[in-house]
Amino acid sequence: MPDTEYFDAIPFHFWTVTFFIFGCIVGSFLNVCIYRLPRGENIIFPPSHCPHCNYHIPWYLNIPLFTWVFLRGRCAHCRAPITVRYFIVELLTGSLFALSWLCVGNSSLTLALIYCLVIGALIVSSFIDLEHFVIPDSITLGGIGVGFVLSFFFPQIHWTDSLKLSMQESFLGILVGGGILYAISRLGKLAFGRYRYKIKADEKIILSEEALETPSEKIPYSEIFYRPTDRIIIQAASVELTLINAPQPQEPADTEATEPTSPASPSYQWESARIELSPTQLKVDSQTWDPSEVRKVELNAHKLTLPREVMGLGDVKFMAAIGAFFGWKAVIFILFASSLLGSLVGLTLVALRKHELSARIPYGPYLALGTLLWMMGGYYWYPSLFELVNQILSPFFQS
Ligand SMILES: [Zn+2]
Repeated sequence: MPDTEYFDAIPFHFWTVTFFIFGCIVGSFLNVCIYRLPRGENIIFPPSHCPHCNYHIPWYLNIPLFTWVFLRGRCAHCRAPITVRYFIVELLTGSLFALSWLCVGNSSLTLALIYCLVIGALIVSSFIDLEHFVIPDSITLGGIGVGFVLSFFFPQIHWTDSLKLSMQESFLGILVGGGILYAISRLGKLAFGRYRYKIKADEKIILSEEALETPSEKIPYSEIFYRPTDRIIIQAASVELTLINAPQPQEPADTEATEPTSPASPSYQWESARIELSPTQLKVDSQTWDPSEVRKVELNAHKLTLPREVMGLGDVKFMAAIGAFFGWKAVIFILFASSLLGSLVGLTLVALRKHELSARIPYGPYLALGTLLWMMGGYYWYPSLFELVNQILSPFFQS
């Protein structure tokens, strides 16, 4: 494989700069993915345009970093503000690409490029997860496949020359990564019971036939209800409940038992009420319905309690993908590092009163940070991590 001999003729840091610039350009494309993937849009066509006025951005106004600064974060055509995320993602991608060259460029160009691919995927998933609380399957399931195939062609991802070892590492990485997070997500639901979803004052909520919809997100019941005892509890004002229409008689008019058909769906209203929804029952104050008879409930919520969801299955697939690239040892390290980071950040936010302990926090960005730590040297610290744990624990376990 064409590794660093060719590159040695040119000063090492020329390539560092090249990786940075390359990263900024890729970052510009990642911004497009972050916007379009969760919206189910094509990431290639149409080319970059302003989401407000549809103005096609010409190439000379599509230069990473500079454009955003030069236009001071506004569209050149309609002056609508462009989020600072565009600038941050470009700078971050450039910096991390350069860092990946600095970390492994000396030993393998191929590895540095594979790291760049992974970094791109980590950035896209983190920013999507922060905004939408999901990680697209195209990244997670796609990542499992790509990681496994790359382990076949480039065993050096797993720091080995042996094809057999490399495939084994990748396979175990998928199993251990997906398996541990799946177990945690199941156990977490059993252990924590319920959590409170933070809502704005008088947030409009719709309980439709298959999902709980808030202005910002749509949570399918399949993600909320795991046990028959799971319940959504809402304190609400101005509730409107609409039942499903009685079925229209299809038979010819001469049959005897034609039910009178109501022109509108029957509906009920309350000024304020306590609503409790389980997979089998909808209860408004003391009246009950079968959920299958109800079309939707529209309400303004004061307080909403959901069965606690510790992690979505998105994180399970995400961790399996990371395992496919870096193996099961990496999975253990990344889980350890990310939960440490997550608790530190979470507790800091709670201390600063920016967050409630029970609020929903996306876990993807922490997994991504943990993965970065692993790529940038975690495999070196790994033995010392065990050494440290051993030193802490050994006094307690000596007989
Ligand atoms: Zn515009």
